[in-house]
Amino acid sequence: MDFSLLDKPVQFLKGVGPRRSESLHRMGLVTARDVLFHLPRRYDDASTVQSIADVQVGQDATVRGRVRTKGVIPTRAGLRIFQAVLEDDSGRITVAWPGQPWLDRKLREGDVLLVAGPVRFFHGRQIQPREFTLMGRGADGDSGADAPEGTIFVAYPASDEVPQWVLRGVFEKNLDELLELVGGEEYLPDEERERLGLPDLPTAFRSLHRPASLADAESGRRRLAFDELFFLQLVQAQLRHRQTRERPGITFERTNALIRPLHESLPFELTHAQAAVLREISGDMTSDRRMNRMLQGDVGAGKTLVALFAMLLAAEGGWQAVLLAPTELLAEQHARKLTALTAELPIEVGLLTGGLATAERRDALARIADGSAHLVVGTHALLQESVDFARLGLVVVDEQHRFGVRQRMALADRDPPPDVLVMSATPIPRSLALTLYGDLDLSVLDELPPGRQPIQTFLRFPRSRDEVYRFVDDQIAKGRQAYVVYPLVEESEKLDLRAATQEFERLSSEVLPHRRLGLLHGRLSSDEKDATMRAFLEGDLDLLVATSVIEVGIDVANATVMVIEHAERFGLSQLHQLRGRVGRGAEESFCLLVAEVGGDAAERLKVFRDTLDGFEIARADLRIRGQGDLFGAQQHGKDPVLRFADLTRDEGILLEAQRLARRLIDVDPDLVSPSHVRVRAVLEARFAERLKMFGVG
Ligand code: ADP
Ligand code: MG
Repeated sequence: MDFSLLDKPVQFLKGVGPRRSESLHRMGLVTARDVLFHLPRRYDDASTVQSIADVQVGQDATVRGRVRTKGVIPTRAGLRIFQAVLEDDSGRITVAWPGQPWLDRKLREGDVLLVAGPVRFFHGRQIQPREFTLMGRGADGDSGADAPEGTIFVAYPASDEVPQWVLRGVFEKNLDELLELVGGEEYLPDEERERLGLPDLPTAFRSLHRPASLADAESGRRRLAFDELFFLQLVQAQLRHRQTRERPGITFERTNALIRPLHESLPFELTHAQAAVLREISGDMTSDRRMNRMLQGDVGAGKTLVALFAMLLAAEGGWQAVLLAPTELLAEQHARKLTALTAELPIEVGLLTGGLATAERRDALARIADGSAHLVVGTHALLQESVDFARLGLVVVDEQHRFGVRQRMALADRDPPPDVLVMSATPIPRSLALTLYGDLDLSVLDELPPGRQPIQTFLRFPRSRDEVYRFVDDQIAKGRQAYVVYPLVEESEKLDLRAATQEFERLSSEVLPHRRLGLLHGRLSSDEKDATMRAFLEGDLDLLVATSVIEVGIDVANATVMVIEHAERFGLSQLHQLRGRVGRGAEESFCLLVAEVGGDAAERLKVFRDTLDGFEIARADLRIRGQGDLFGAQQHGKDPVLRFADLTRDEGILLEAQRLARRLIDVDPDLVSPSHVRVRAVLEARFAERLKMFGVG
């Protein structure tokens, strides 16, 4: 099969000479493949196009017509208006673009325009277009003079140099050949494709370039969405295979000798979600496949307890288990919890952090090395090569996003390969999780233990700030503690610092001079941060002024108020994380959002105010911000990871893509079988560049 044909340079296309090929290059269209993938950015349904004669004042109308006359009209107010008279078979109408006299140079008499906008009365009917598309170049004669037939109008991303009608002309002359070439790249067996209800590649591209209906164009999009999700999953499935299938993992023996007494000692029932996740984890651990699983759950959903059960399962078979935390404070917190929960069990919990004195460190290392520490909690200090384990079987990573993949796997890269469980307290929609972490298996705690005090959330305008701080003062008077958080301004770390620092001074000297305040921001060393957090944790501070560096997962049960300044500058998920710092004890808790907003921004904050469900908030965040933003960290190149797939709609396609990709890699990890040659070729030709960042070459 010859892939080179789609990769031939654009000048070999019909109607593309050296000059046009240069201008196509400047648009980023270098090969025939680039042209085929240059898809319309908009589809207009011609059934909504009205005859010009039928257009009524007061309507919002869409019409198509040819420019009869045109010109720039000056007004007394000094505004220059470009006007054109459009004509179709039924009549004529004036179209006016106030303040856009330059259009006079762009548009010619005879051009065919598609125009949409409100119709007003001004010396007769007049449309003021919200948007318009130049469908065809007219009187002067150029290629594509006539608008295409069909009921759907397509508008391509165009430039001044390469306008619509030129692109239209290129497709007119070349589409059939391009479709034939792309047919050679079909990698999905017919029966699989039909089962999924997806068109073949030529049909999909025809639907995208020449749709018979909007639904037709959508079916083409779905096919390309499947392709990109499938190849992303394929690359991740290869990574998963390497990490979990290449070498046999540990087969843990579950005796229940530790798990049962822990279960019986708990003063509460496990939630259904916890029980289900524990079954998944236990299934992985007791099989000979290595576990590489992500556990997602909102703050307080009970992840730490699930981790402890997994660690005890490892210990039952005589293996050690590690819990890795991103800060010393969190490590100490975990160690305290685990020690308390295992008090009645023949289990020793060790702690290894960078802050230990030399003698303590030596002792901790010795107990890890001789196996007397069964469960080990620690920070990055655990990742050092000098740490020797007697029999490491399980690695649990808390707040996994705080560790790089490399760091995460550093502990786990030994023989035999320990099982790995990574935990995240940042709820994200399932579709996004499957996409970002396709190499992992996914477990979700989507249920909070019963009986939590709901946090009350309020929106306040800045002018009510005095009232907000009186409320904070009242809570402190009752013995509670509070946070005030300022946003990070990404452009300037200095600016953040000033905002938080200035406010800290103002609050300490003017607003709450009789209270004990602490300040936390990104410029502090981690020792300084830890010291301040510790003072707050021990009740030596009443109020913590912070930028959003404030620790994820830190548990100060006595803190009951979270004030968030400039709340409109935070993403919803980030607000949710911040709100999760309170409501951790028995007392009623509050979140106060201070923001000067109206309109959409206010709506967004109201969504947040009215729900405490992290997953619902994450879905709203995805809907509002769009997926591009969420890929931020992964997105290096100009090419987005996902061009066609829409994670708010395509979860069904995504699940199918993952299933198919994993099945394929399970039977043929290197894609060497003759029936998979095409899959590999498409991977190279279409996705290799884009998917590099997912770490499989
Ligand atoms: P996470 O790590 O997900 O933030 P934790 O495991 O720390 O959550 O649990 C938060 C609190 O809820 C802890 O005090 C824990 O003992 C308690 N908890 C955990 N599971 C349950 C449950 N099923 N029912 C009641 N309380 C629970
Ligand atoms: Mg936790």
